[in-house]
Amino acid sequence: MNFSVLPIRDRFGVGPGRLFINGQWRDGGEGRFDQIHPSTNEVVTNLIEAGVSGVNEAVAAARHAFDNGPWRKMAARERKRILQPIVEAIYAAEEEIAYLQTLDNGMPIHFSRHSRVSSRVAADNFDHYAGWIDKITGETFPQYTDATNLHYLTFRDPVGVVAAITPWNGPVMTFAMKVAPALACGNTVVLKPSELASLAAIRLADILAQSDLPPGVFNLVTGGPITGQALSTHPDVDKVSFTGSPVVGEKILSTSGSNMKRMSLELGGKSAALVFPDTRDVRVAARNLMGLCSTFLSGQVCSTPTRAVVHKSILDEFVHHAQEQVREIRFGDPFDPATTSAPIISKRQLDRVCSYIESGKQEGARLVFGGDRPGGHLANGNWVNPALFVDVDNTMKIAREEIFGPVLSVIGFETEDEAVAIANDSEYGLSGGIYTTDLSRAFRVAHAMRTGSIGINGYSVMPNSPTGGIKRSGIGREGGWTTIEAFTELKTVMLNLDA
Ligand code: NAD
Repeated sequence: MNFSVLPIRDRFGVGPGRLFINGQWRDGGEGRFDQIHPSTNEVVTNLIEAGVSGVNEAVAAARHAFDNGPWRKMAARERKRILQPIVEAIYAAEEEIAYLQTLDNGMPIHFSRHSRVSSRVAADNFDHYAGWIDKITGETFPQYTDATNLHYLTFRDPVGVVAAITPWNGPVMTFAMKVAPALACGNTVVLKPSELASLAAIRLADILAQSDLPPGVFNLVTGGPITGQALSTHPDVDKVSFTGSPVVGEKILSTSGSNMKRMSLELGGKSAALVFPDTRDVRVAARNLMGLCSTFLSGQVCSTPTRAVVHKSILDEFVHHAQEQVREIRFGDPFDPATTSAPIISKRQLDRVCSYIESGKQEGARLVFGGDRPGGHLANGNWVNPALFVDVDNTMKIAREEIFGPVLSVIGFETEDEAVAIANDSEYGLSGGIYTTDLSRAFRVAHAMRTGSIGINGYSVMPNSPTGGIKRSGIGREGGWTTIEAFTELKTVMLNLDA
């Protein structure tokens, strides 16, 4: 039976989008565009393209609030008093935000409620960073010369106006990971969510709108690349905190440097998970890795290991269990709690995924299962059956480029050195996995793999631990103290008590 996502839109009263600038919800900008649901291709709502003029107004508000407002100078206890009720308000709206995230991007409602990108985890992020406010300390340094009355110390000042630009796949989590620490450190913010998924961000912005934040401290503009470019290149922006594709990240790096903006770039990956013959259970490793490509967002997650580098002695067993896992997935109405997997975010991205599957076949990899499209009641949406390739060579396109879809490439190896060399032979370095019961191997390989993070027998992001990438996967880290460093400037102060 065909399904529609529009009753959920109506249940939560989602109307046309507006901009939030200088403490007011308002119209404006330079046009409007539709947000389309990937599971049915229905138009969910209509949003404002803020464009250059909308961005100018939002940045002016943030600039004024930073330079002249009370926020950056506020006592720690007062800033905490304002952020803490936001934590409670997000918890209170947890269910609604979960539904809006699914209305944004087709994430199955079960994951939108319970996974590491849920609204609950977004609230946890606000809680974590509100807790930092009275702990952002500097250092004092030991006396270096004979001048006993000369003292050196450091302060941590806010960076200034932050442009926060987020992707479609974790709109709630990325909102929290940027806005919470930026505000905790005393910055002002202009956030632009993805044009493909803005509704949950608008709801979160409304929670901030109803808080005691002074006007202009938090602003939201909607829109696509034009708005993103206007924001990331704006001369009154001091820092860009971007999560998205390497192509856009590189564009931002090359076009936004004119006033020495600070940059945090969280980009894509082509991560490898190494499965050694001494893994506790090949079945668990196969189900984990295939599951990351086939359930939840169907492989549309930056850190997903899309290269399974598997010892040749267990390769057939691995493929068998991966195929068993895929038999259990369920496509369908994303608001049905039994649905396990998401559609591809857009028709354009669907074409890209399908073209990668074709290229894998043409380059000589063997497609063991999947890669076709389900029909029937799913025909209107952007669904692809999860695919697994074997006989993959690491030089093939499917092993080198980020597909961002449900495609797992299995690459065989014989020695540990060979496995590490395959993993490192990539222009990306976001995350990686190691499946083994040999602790010394686990640490040896974790040291040898060139990535920003590694999961030994599994991996999950927490608000208090850093994530981020090396090579084409980005610059900087987010999480815990690393984010505080990224949203502050270090100021060195010399105190001469003899003068
Ligand atoms: P995207 O790069 O297409 O878009 C990301 C954001 O950038 C959107 O808000 C978009 O409107 C904006 N944008 C587009 N062009 C711009 C420009 N010229 N200047 C400024 N902003 C611009 O990425 P996406 O499709 O939304 O997300 C998927 C990508 O994000 C994947 O590559 C994925 O790996 C990556 N990602 C990385 C992480 C991480 O933590 N490393 C997390 C989630 C997603």
